[in-house]
Amino acid sequence: MLSSLPVLEKCAEDVARANLRAYDAARASFSWEAARRDLDGLPSGGLNIAHEAVDRHAAGPRGSRVAIRWLGRSGTTRDLTYADLSRQTSRFANALRGLGVGPGERVYTLLGRVPELYVAVLGTLKSGNVVCPLFSAFGPEPIRTRLAIGGARVLVTTEALYERKVAALRASLPELEHVLVVGPKGAPPEGTLAFDALLDRSADAFTIPATDPEAPALLHFTSGTTGKPKGVLHVHQAVVAHHATGRLALDLHPEDVFWCTADPGWVTGTSYGIIAPLTHGVTSIVDEADFDVERWYRILAEQRVNVWYSAPTAIRMLMRAGIEPVRRHDLGALRFLASVGEPLNPEAVLWSQEAFGRPFHDNWWQTETGGIMIANFASMPVRPGSMGRPLPGIEAAVVRPTEDGVEEIREPGLEGELALRPGWPSMFRAYWNEPERYAKCFRDGWYLTGDLAHGDDDGYFWFVGRGDDVIKTSGHLIGPFEVESVLMEHPGVAEAGVIGKPDPVAHEVVKAFVSLKPGFVPGEALRRELLALARKRLGAVVAPKEIDFADSLPRTRSGKIMRRLLRARELGLPEGDVSTLEDAP
Ligand code: AMP
Repeated sequence: MLSSLPVLEKCAEDVARANLRAYDAARASFSWEAARRDLDGLPSGGLNIAHEAVDRHAAGPRGSRVAIRWLGRSGTTRDLTYADLSRQTSRFANALRGLGVGPGERVYTLLGRVPELYVAVLGTLKSGNVVCPLFSAFGPEPIRTRLAIGGARVLVTTEALYERKVAALRASLPELEHVLVVGPKGAPPEGTLAFDALLDRSADAFTIPATDPEAPALLHFTSGTTGKPKGVLHVHQAVVAHHATGRLALDLHPEDVFWCTADPGWVTGTSYGIIAPLTHGVTSIVDEADFDVERWYRILAEQRVNVWYSAPTAIRMLMRAGIEPVRRHDLGALRFLASVGEPLNPEAVLWSQEAFGRPFHDNWWQTETGGIMIANFASMPVRPGSMGRPLPGIEAAVVRPTEDGVEEIREPGLEGELALRPGWPSMFRAYWNEPERYAKCFRDGWYLTGDLAHGDDDGYFWFVGRGDDVIKTSGHLIGPFEVESVLMEHPGVAEAGVIGKPDPVAHEVVKAFVSLKPGFVPGEALRRELLALARKRLGAVVAPKEIDFADSLPRTRSGKIMRRLLRARELGLPEGDVSTLEDAP
């Protein structure tokens, strides 16, 4: 079926204005050392993300350019120029100093997409601390786990989020010393400080200290099949990759208006919703509101967005609304459309060509890679359904395990694990405090991504699936273990198994299977009780959408729930190898 899909050729004009015009030549001439020279470096030495993103522009002719145009939920607009952002982030860095927060200590944010989020993230990077933006829709349990794993010393949040989700956790988080609340109506809640008052008292000049490019900068959480979430650590040097990939894969030009729709609580919203657009000195649109078809087209039209980076779930929701709403808006400024996070189905690429006159360009990466690794480029024909080709500076391969390592699969179309050759600047440097888990990701000189893929004759990569049980729903990566653990807290639940059930819009939805302890009866009332418990503790994005009861769940002889089998049974697929099943014949 794939071979019958058209290849979408690019016109000469698109090729001529693309940053990457000839793929092979760009790969041959690329080096990370040269890419580093596109950045300034600190006057005092080293490399600091916030200097490259903010201060170097603020000091020059770009200082008066709008860095962030914030569109409030209720219609307000606030512009922050590069000079404004520089002053605000300096105030925040000074405030951290004033609180006695030492270098390398972790500063977390739990905020919606409000200007203060951007100030706190960049101000933390200036001060030499590690920043961890958390997704504000998380419930108390994922928040507590992540604050505890990273040993948060400071948290920036709002009064409402603090009271609903954090206040009750304080006693269990002894390392969390300072909580700064944005916009309290009156006095800040007990045990917190008012963010605005603190910034008002802080000086707006701050000299970024010499920063080792290998100094820790960003902490993002991701999930595995088992165990707690993993804290993925990136260093300041990652900015070299953010900048280079912004130029090559997102085709950012200095005068662009750019809109990345991702939330900074996930890696895309930080690497490309904060850092890359600012290092390029473009105007970045930040919309506080959630997805809405009409609102999104209005933003694209009114803000004259040139480059738009979004995700397959959103694109499928736009598709569902049809082409008519597109036709009612002038989207003539749009030049380049890119997508990441889940498989982008060929139909969506073809629809986008019809709706916008331009295809969405799928690209692939993950929290651990810190930046885009494989992409469909502005100058290259798009093969709908393919993730594209590796970025200059990136070596990718499909590999299979051997007895003592891995070997490359060179035959086109043959499936294996997607692997990358380590050495790019935004490669993660650690799973926070878990050196063994980190070491397991590398074999025979390759970083193993955990994704299954195959290549084709021309070096395009095609996504096949995840190699593990992790769930992707609306672009959010959910670890089944975290969900199972909360369901197990209910006194009636004996076992819980959680899978991703395919969904035409969200890619997958979280589905749970539970077996009950004696004395508990399956039924609608209990199902609702479990759904409510999960939503309260985990937040709506992480909680299961469906719960089924089962007499018992399939387990391996070593006692692990076989989620693969639950999924196969749910979908009516062949059960595959069941020889390790507990009650196998
Ligand atoms: P995260 O670390 O949350 O960004 O999720 C990364 C995972 O999302 C990858 O390992 C893939 O499983 C999936 N993913 C990201 N981009 C794509 C893509 N273009 N096509 C298919 N899956 C993708």
